[in-house]
Amino acid sequence: MTTTTEPAEPATSAAPTYHNVIAGERAPAVSGATFSSRNPANHEEIVGVFPRSGPADVTRAVAAAVEAFPRWRRVPAPARADLILRAGSIMQERKEDLARLMTREMGKVLEESRGDVQEGIDMAKYIAGEGRRFFGETMPSELRDKFAMVIRQPFGPVAIITPWNFPIAIPTWKIFPALLAGNTVVFKPAEDTPACAAAFVEIMHEAGLPSGVLNLVTGFGEEAGEPLVEDERIRMISFTGSGEVGREVAARGGRQLKKISLELGGKNPIIVMDDADLGLALEGALWGAFGTSGQRCTASSRLIVQRGVLDEFTAELVKRASALRVGNGLEAEVQMGPVVNQTQLERIHRYTGIGIEEGATLLLGGRVLDDAPYDRGYFYAPTIFGHVTADMRIAQEEIFGPTTVIMPVATFEEAVEVANGVKYGLSSAIYTRDINRAFAAIETLEAGITYVNAPTIGAEIHLPFGGIKATGNGHREAGTSAIREFTELKSVYIDYSGRLQRAQIDTE
Ligand code: NAD
Repeated sequence: MTTTTEPAEPATSAAPTYHNVIAGERAPAVSGATFSSRNPANHEEIVGVFPRSGPADVTRAVAAAVEAFPRWRRVPAPARADLILRAGSIMQERKEDLARLMTREMGKVLEESRGDVQEGIDMAKYIAGEGRRFFGETMPSELRDKFAMVIRQPFGPVAIITPWNFPIAIPTWKIFPALLAGNTVVFKPAEDTPACAAAFVEIMHEAGLPSGVLNLVTGFGEEAGEPLVEDERIRMISFTGSGEVGREVAARGGRQLKKISLELGGKNPIIVMDDADLGLALEGALWGAFGTSGQRCTASSRLIVQRGVLDEFTAELVKRASALRVGNGLEAEVQMGPVVNQTQLERIHRYTGIGIEEGATLLLGGRVLDDAPYDRGYFYAPTIFGHVTADMRIAQEEIFGPTTVIMPVATFEEAVEVANGVKYGLSSAIYTRDINRAFAAIETLEAGITYVNAPTIGAEIHLPFGGIKATGNGHREAGTSAIREFTELKSVYIDYSGRLQRAQIDTE
């Protein structure tokens, strides 16, 4: 549970009150409890007041999704796609408003918030195209006068549980393909970004989504997320968030044999070889480490640098990072916003202490920015550690803030070994001009994504997204995997011989 959201706080006149959306109706929490979402750049500003939902609200939302399912699955896929495309057009029209709301609610700078919304728009276009594909397969039967095919079918009501760092993009990665495939949805967004979620759900209904097909339940993980995971009527769960909660979701849902798709954390390396274009590598490292204040699952949180360029790379990165303009992301010149809440701020600062204790050299930052104009927000200085070794916790654990570490290596082989020496395997990158090394890195880096001469962030929606090892449980979102994630396969045999034909026996 986070501390931006203080329970049962009365609405101020300035802050709008929001509702859950269940069966197309706006509804407060059954208990009447609320929580507020605050602007992390100014925590005195309440973005909105939301239902603090519990099991009773979740039960109602799942019931609505169950009821809506038989009708929705019968809507032809191209018609479901039209609706998603319409939602994408509305998002396009409201891109600026949505982006501003996002920056106010979770802090990333406006340009990045626009990118987040754009990702949702791209996803709408891509998934709408799937409505006229939604391919199955045909294959020959081993018997005469017999036809064989595989078709895709929806699960039924599915649960979508999302984090706060991509408050529009991540829900669209999940909700668009889930709906296109004919599932109905109960959506539990992060407690730090319920306003973005509410704006998205409203757009879906404006686009013509029938009641009950997409239900929104706001609230905290333990109170609203857990009962959703436990509800027996939910057959599939798509979760993005921390490894800790992901494991819990997998254990609870797994006991009921649900399909569970997990996208979890990362500790993503950029390898910088001696032969790299150093200017390019520095630009990439700066963007990869400090974009979204480092709060991306794909953030470049480890910079593995060959010794020949180590001193120059380090000095120049420190210089460039110290010049980053930190502030309220709505202000045009600001390059890095606040972190999302007090809990995150404390966690990031705790890791600074750990790094110092472990013997790493603090090269930049390492402090909470709490004097004016930062005193009403959750601001942390861009932070760089040098002389970091692979066994240190700051080189192993996800910090999820504007902290990156520089790890010196002698050779390419050592760089790959260090890169692979963590439990996570989401994104990875190498800067080199040597094509052989680039391909060797593509082959050997243990990650779901590898970039060459680009930082670890920058996924495009038409490629599968996800990671290996502790980053997930073998699933991929978006791209060609998107529909696969949200469908069951049915194998179909049609015997038009008019007689009993026994497979494996009557083969003559
Ligand atoms: P989190 O795990 O705290 O919360 C994620 C969601 O789970 C929230 O909606 C939360 O309310 C809910 N939740 C919490 N406890 C729950 C429970 N017991 N049962 C059901 N739901 C519960 O994560 P966060 O702080 O919102 O996000 C940051 C994390 O997400 C980081 O670890 C980051 O790496 C990860 N992330 C991963 C990806 C990816 O695609 N791999 C993308 C973005 C973020």
